[in-house]
Amino acid sequence: MPNNLLLYNSLSKKKEEFKPIHPPFVGIYVCGPTVYSDTHLGHARPAITFDLLFRYLIHLGYKVRYVRNITDVGHLENETLGEGEDRIEKKARQEQVEPMEVVQIYMNAFHKNMDQLNTLPPSIEPRASGHIIEQIELIKKLVNNGYAYESNGSVYFDILKYNQKYNYGKLSGRVLDELISNTRETEGQEEKRNPYDFALWKKASPEHLMRWPSPWSVGFPGWHLECSAMSIKYLGEEFDIHGGGMDLKFPHHECEIAQSTAALGKESVHLWMHNNMITINGQKMARSLNNFITLDQLFSGDHPLLDQAYSPMTVRFFILQAQYRSTIDFSNEALKSAETGYQKLMKAVESLSKLKVSESSTIDVNKLKEKCYEALNDDLNSPVVLSYLFEAVRFVNSVLDGSGKINSEDLESLKTLFNTFVFEILGLKDESAGIGDEKMTGELMKIIIDLRQTAKSNKDWSASDKIRNELKNAGIVIKDLKEGAEWERE
Ligand code: ZN
Repeated sequence: MPNNLLLYNSLSKKKEEFKPIHPPFVGIYVCGPTVYSDTHLGHARPAITFDLLFRYLIHLGYKVRYVRNITDVGHLENETLGEGEDRIEKKARQEQVEPMEVVQIYMNAFHKNMDQLNTLPPSIEPRASGHIIEQIELIKKLVNNGYAYESNGSVYFDILKYNQKYNYGKLSGRVLDELISNTRETEGQEEKRNPYDFALWKKASPEHLMRWPSPWSVGFPGWHLECSAMSIKYLGEEFDIHGGGMDLKFPHHECEIAQSTAALGKESVHLWMHNNMITINGQKMARSLNNFITLDQLFSGDHPLLDQAYSPMTVRFFILQAQYRSTIDFSNEALKSAETGYQKLMKAVESLSKLKVSESSTIDVNKLKEKCYEALNDDLNSPVVLSYLFEAVRFVNSVLDGSGKINSEDLESLKTLFNTFVFEILGLKDESAGIGDEKMTGELMKIIIDLRQTAKSNKDWSASDKIRNELKNAGIVIKDLKEGAEWERE
C-alpha cells in the first residue's frame, strides 16, 4: 500500500504528506449544496473531486467517514454580508409550497444527479435543520468564551475580538482592515458592533417561516454555523480534511475557522482542500449571464448553448481531465473530445477479453501501475493518471493490430490495472453495458408476448394465463390492448 500521498493544503499553501490523526480512520467534511434549485455543472466538480479522494483513500485501505451536509436553512441571498431572504424560503414563496417541500424536491434531484455521475454516497449526510440544538449549543459556547454577543434577539460573531488573539482571513488572504473599509453600512447592520461581524443566530421577522426557539429569540441559525456544529458532532473537535469549492473560502470557510477556533481554542481542520471552478466559454457561470447549465440539461442536451446531449460519464471524464486545482473551461468542443476519449477507453477495456495471448510481452504493466499511483499521490493528479491509462489503450490497440504482444500473466495484470484505476478509483463506468441489457430484455419480451398472443388465438387460456401470472411474479405486468399487448415493470 503506497502511503506517500501528498495533498495541497489551501491553508499552508503547499503540498503536505497526508497523515491521518487516527489511522486507519480518516474524517472528511465537505460542504454540500443549498437545495433550492437544480443541480448544475458547478456542483459536479466538488462532487467528483471529493469522490475521487474518498475512493482513493478507501482503495489505500483507510476507513473513511465522509460527511457532506445539506443546507436547508440559513443561506441568505447575499452570502457575503449575510443579508436578504433565505434562499429556500424565497423559492417556497414563489412556488407556493412549504420550505421543506422545496428542500425535498431539490435534494432528491441532487441525489439522482450524483448517482448518475457515479459518485459514492457520503457516510453521513446531515441537514442543518436537523441540528438546531447542536448549533444553539455552539453559540452558547461562543457567547461564554466572549467571541459572540447578543443584539436585539440576534447573535453575532465578534470579529475584532477574535482578531485580537487569532487571525481572521488567513485562509482567503483577506485582510480585516480592507474588509472593514470596503463594507458599506446597510439596513439591519446597526445591530452589529462591526459591519463584518456575521450572524450566528437571527431573530425571525413575523413573516419568516423557518423558526425555532432559542435563548435569544425565536429565529434561525446563520449559514456558516451548521458546518462547524455538524463537523464537530460527526468527526470530532479535530479532523483530517475539510473540502469544498474555492468560492467557499470567503466568507464561508473563513467563518467556519473562526467559529471552531473560538469555541474550541484550537484549529479543527488539519488540511483544507478546495477545488477550482468551471467556466463556460471563458466566462464565470451565473444565472445573470444566461450560461447556467443544469446537469439534467447537460444530460438531455436541452439548452441553447449545447450542440448535443452529453452522458454523465462524459461529464465525469471531462472533469477528471483536469487536476482539481486548475480551472476547467466548458465548451462543446471540450465535451465532445471528452466523449471520444471516454469511448476509446471503454472500447479498450472491452477489447481486453479478445486479446490473443503470446509467449512474450511488449508492455511493462507494473511500471504503468507505479506511474498511476505516483500521479494520484501527487495531489490527485487525475489527468496524468488518464494519460498513463491511454498509454495502456494504445498498447491494447497495438496487440489488436498485431504489432504488440502480451503474455497471459501481463494480460491479467492489465485487466486489474484498468479495473483498479478506471472503475474503482476514477469512478468511471461502462454506460453501454446497461443499454445492451435493456435492448435484450425488449427483444425477449417481444417473443414472450408473441407466444402468449398465439396461445390466446388458439384459445389455450391456461397457457396464456400462465405466461401472464409468471411474468407478474417476476415483476412484469402485461396490459392487453385492442391490438396486441404491452408490458411494463411493476
Ligand atoms: Zn460549509
